[in-house]
Amino acid sequence: MSLLLQFRAYSLPFRAPVRTAHGSWAVRTGVIVRLEDPATGHVGWGEASPVPGFGSETVEADAGLLRTLGAQPGEGDLARIPPGLPCLRRALATAIAALTTDSPPEVGAFLPVAALLPAGKEALATVPSKAEAGFRTFKWKVGVGAAGDEIALLDDLCARLPDGARLRLDANGAWDRRTAERWLERCAERPVEFVEQPAFARPAPGQASDPKVNDLLLGLAGDFPTPLALDESLAGDGDVERWLGAGWPGVFVVKPALHGDLETALTQLARVKAAVVFSSALETAVGMRSALRTAFAWQAAQTPEKPRALGFGVGPLFADDRFNGPAAAPFLYREDVERLNPEAVWNALS
Ligand code: MG
Repeated sequence: MSLLLQFRAYSLPFRAPVRTAHGSWAVRTGVIVRLEDPATGHVGWGEASPVPGFGSETVEADAGLLRTLGAQPGEGDLARIPPGLPCLRRALATAIAALTTDSPPEVGAFLPVAALLPAGKEALATVPSKAEAGFRTFKWKVGVGAAGDEIALLDDLCARLPDGARLRLDANGAWDRRTAERWLERCAERPVEFVEQPAFARPAPGQASDPKVNDLLLGLAGDFPTPLALDESLAGDGDVERWLGAGWPGVFVVKPALHGDLETALTQLARVKAAVVFSSALETAVGMRSALRTAFAWQAAQTPEKPRALGFGVGPLFADDRFNGPAAAPFLYREDVERLNPEAVWNALS
């Protein structure tokens, strides 16, 4: 059976440049794919949105491969996307799945969302309004300024959190061992839910990950009581399995957009009842709908009583509102997810 394949590349300015450990990020690029089954008229959507710095494919590579598939690929062609293009594989898998069933699973009504705090001492001024709005999980980017200055702010920040609230720290891989140890000593006995990616290094060509950094992360996870979370370390297929095999005792931050074989990764995580936090890859409403459906289904099946807050408190992301997923709010409702309209995003790109 032949399917009808179309794709449109996008290049969308963020409302404000995103500060990352890899520098400032002003324009999001990616590809939206549209698959149609001419026999049924069903349409499926997908988005390939690689994150620069995570070490997976480029948008150009995704678009190049889509061009070679042509307008009427067979299902076999779509199943043979190279493993080096995990984001494109995810996009096509999402679109194909929607051709047979587009009714989302019946799952929980809403999930909590983590509030994003600005780096540095601006975070202190931001907490009260976010707490007032109803957020109870807060995420603070660290590793941006000098470690001593940031550590000195931690107690002030914790003092401003509402009762029962928890703080996530995200170092985006910025720390060396000594800095990570200083932080983790300080985090003990404070309401820190986890520290995300204390250290990271892009693996050498031909290697899946940097063995020195892996050892450092495992060592830190064993030496300190505050849980650690992997984010940059889970950049594509096989990483979840490798870290499970290494006995990672902490949290897995899963950006569904980056996993070509997401189902396998989630099955492996569920089998060992791993702690999972779902997170945005700063995608458009097309990718967000798919990622959030995955998050709702997982939480309903695995952690219905005590879901962890979603890492989707990023919106509105884009200057052009037609591309935005849900705006950041303390809770995300199923209706918010189902209201997202891939076709509107597609039309906005024509
Ligand atoms: Mg992170």
